[in-house]
Amino acid sequence: MSPKKSRSKPIKTYSLETELVFNKSADQYNSSVAPLYQSATFKQDSLSNMGEYDYTRSGNPTRTHLQNHLARIMRAKHTFAVTSGMGCLDVITRLLKPGDEVIAGDDLYGGTNRLLTYLHNKGDVKAFHYDTTNTELIKSKITRATKMIFLESPTNPLIKVVDVRSISEHAHKVNPDVVVVFDNTMMSPIFMTPLDLGVDIQYESATKYLNGHHDIMAGVIATRSDKFAEQLYNVINSTGCGLSPFDSWLLSRGLRTLAIRVERQQQNCINVAEFLKNIGFKVRYPGLKDHPQHELHNSMCRGYGAVLSFETGNIKLSERIVESTEIFGIAVSFGCVNSLISMPCKMSHASIDAKTREERDFPEDLIRLCIGIENCDDLIDDLTKALLKSGAVRINERDELFNVVPVQPKL
Ligand SMILES: *Cc1c(COP(=O)(O)O)cnc(C)c1O
Repeated sequence: MSPKKSRSKPIKTYSLETELVFNKSADQYNSSVAPLYQSATFKQDSLSNMGEYDYTRSGNPTRTHLQNHLARIMRAKHTFAVTSGMGCLDVITRLLKPGDEVIAGDDLYGGTNRLLTYLHNKGDVKAFHYDTTNTELIKSKITRATKMIFLESPTNPLIKVVDVRSISEHAHKVNPDVVVVFDNTMMSPIFMTPLDLGVDIQYESATKYLNGHHDIMAGVIATRSDKFAEQLYNVINSTGCGLSPFDSWLLSRGLRTLAIRVERQQQNCINVAEFLKNIGFKVRYPGLKDHPQHELHNSMCRGYGAVLSFETGNIKLSERIVESTEIFGIAVSFGCVNSLISMPCKMSHASIDAKTREERDFPEDLIRLCIGIENCDDLIDDLTKALLKSGAVRINERDELFNVVPVQPKL
């Protein structure tokens, strides 16, 4: 921090739960909810006296209100709201120059993988994918030619945890100009503050937890660097991917209940994870003590989120389970108030070809559950019925559920 900044009055911050609902409105009528400026342009007083806003692609008060709120929640200095999580990645990759080398995980979100592959095949960047759970391997691959590193933790649906602190620290030592980019969609600001772990630019799909109601698509980019903020803003203003006023307003509304939603979702998810584990399924969830990186996850996060995956040992069986639930809707995405079930190989991760999935040890029978805020007993009843109907589990003489295909764990 520069001496000038440290003399300025520090902004008082409250705990996250309070910040989420605390709203200091500058509105002329003191409206308790910040107003929606559904306007593309703003009239100017005169040619010599231009106002703060002129055109919504460049800036809009509703978007600014949202961004200022997000900055406090993400502990960032600058945040930008754009039209989707992938829009964030598009903006960020535009900071690269032709031929720049980038390192990325091998279990990234399907859309992230698709965009990086597109840029790689076009010759725009050279993208190298490695298993980011292998910290030493990643460290050994970082050179002065590495310009950007894309990390995600925990990944989904394989729930691999990345040592963000140690990789960021090493990367900046090797190349002070490297940009470490982190996708925090899975944890949300409630459970993780990646900027505190040495990450330069963080982004997340606000379509998921931040909005929480699956009624808009949005993405948020956050940084503490003035330099990156200026470059990011320039791309957003030039390309016009800033979030629309109405979607910004809806996201502001969704955001207020973030803490209470994800806490409830997480508690439900812990219960479901234990239920499935006790039956004998191989469950991947960072909150389970037998997750191989449970401790590493705990060293970086304040919670575990509400996404888990499990293997049944048989693709057909998995398909039948997915098609037998009632409360769990068959849909991609997560972070919404209602629970979802999916088969990543056929849905969210279908854009990764089968050969690559096999190389990356991606189990084709994997089922992903994204847990909502419903009554947990109802969720477990729904799963029990689906497991019985599909033939994946039976009831033994002691009235206990047991799975039919014993699963060989492979992590
Ligand atoms: C959904 C998702 C994205 C993409 O966000 P969109 O809003 O769908 O564009 C990126 N990363 C992760 C981890 C996601 O789950």
